[in-house]
Amino acid sequence: MAQSTAAPAPTALPVAAPLPVRAILPWALFFGLLMLVLLYFVGAEQGAFAVFSGEGIHEWVHDGRHLLGFPCH
Ligand SMILES: [Zn+2]
Repeated sequence: MAQSTAAPAPTALPVAAPLPVRAILPWALFFGLLMLVLLYFVGAEQGAFAVFSGEGIHEWVHDGRHLLGFPCH
């Protein structure tokens, strides 16, 4: 039984077209702002800094707060 020992010819990998920065910038700003809001709710939504009264949001993000090392209780 004859086996082929020759390696397959290398094929050119498809190259993704580069995205222009102007196309990414609005999405980067949007998600950056979204992450800042999320970071606020996880890290500072409590007590005097609370935007919403009650403990609902704090309790909802409580595990994330401890996971990220924010002081809590
Ligand atoms: Zn806690």
